[in-house]
Amino acid sequence: MALLEVAGLTKRFGGFTAVDNVSFSVAEGEILGLLGPNGSGKSTTFNCIAGMLRPSSGSVKLAGEEIAGLTADATCRRGIGRTFQIPRPFRGLSLLENAALAAHYGASGHITREEALRRAREALRLAQLPEDPETTTQGLGAAGLKKLELARALATQPKLLLADESLGGLDAGEMRQAAEMLKRIRDERGITIVWVEHIMGVLLSVVDRVVVLDHGAVIFQGTPYEAQEDAKVAEVYLGP
Ligand code: ADP
Ligand code: MG
Repeated sequence: MALLEVAGLTKRFGGFTAVDNVSFSVAEGEILGLLGPNGSGKSTTFNCIAGMLRPSSGSVKLAGEEIAGLTADATCRRGIGRTFQIPRPFRGLSLLENAALAAHYGASGHITREEALRRAREALRLAQLPEDPETTTQGLGAAGLKKLELARALATQPKLLLADESLGGLDAGEMRQAAEMLKRIRDERGITIVWVEHIMGVLLSVVDRVVVLDHGAVIFQGTPYEAQEDAKVAEVYLGP
C-alpha cells in the first residue's frame, strides 16, 4: 500500500490556482523527488499535505487514512515531519533544545524531558550535528541550518519526511553530502521521503522516482533516467 496518496489536490489563492489537480503516490520506503521551477507549487503542495494550508479540494491519505484539512500539529503527530525551505530555528537556543522542542511537538502524547532529549540527540546524530547542550544556532552557516531543519523534523519521529529545498544555498560538496544524508535516513531508518527541489542535479542520483510540476500541474512522473530523457521536462528546465 502507498504510504502517501495525493489525489486531485487543488489549492487556490483567490482566483489563482497554485496547485492544480495534482495526483501522485509514494510507496513506503521510497524517496520521491518532487521537482519543478520556482513558483510551480511545490511548497504549497507540502503545505497542503502537512496541514499548514487547507486544500481547496482533493484528497490526501496517509497509510489509507484521509488527512486533508487536518492541522499541522495533527499531521505531525500522525507521522509527517517536514523541513521548511527557509530554516526556522529558535535562535539563541542550543541545537539540542531546538530538536527537543520538536520532539515534544511531534509526540502523540506527553513525553518526559529525558525522552525528548533522547529523541533530539538521535536526530542530531543522524543530521551530523553536535549533541552537546552548549552549541547554539549562532554561527551555523547555510549547510548547518539545513541540517538543523532536518534534525528538527527527524526528532518528531516521522514515518514520512517532507524535505523542502534541502540544497538551497549549499555548495557542490555540501549538496552531495545533503543528498547522501537523505538516502541514509531512508536506508537506515526506513523513513519514506518526498524531496522537493527546483534543480535536478544531485537529487536524481538518490531518488527512486520523480514527479515534475509546472504551473501547479503534474507534467511528468517516472524514473530519474526517464526524467532526463523527457522533452517536456527539458523544456521546463531549459526553456523552449
Ligand atoms: P514553489 O515552492 O514551487 O517555488 P510555491 O508553492 O511557493 O512554489 O508557490 C506557487 C505559487 O503560488 C506562486 O505563484 C506563489 O506566488 C503562489 N503562492 C504561494 N503561497 C501563496 C499565498 N499564501 N497567497 C497567494 N499566492 C501564493
Ligand atoms: Mg518552494
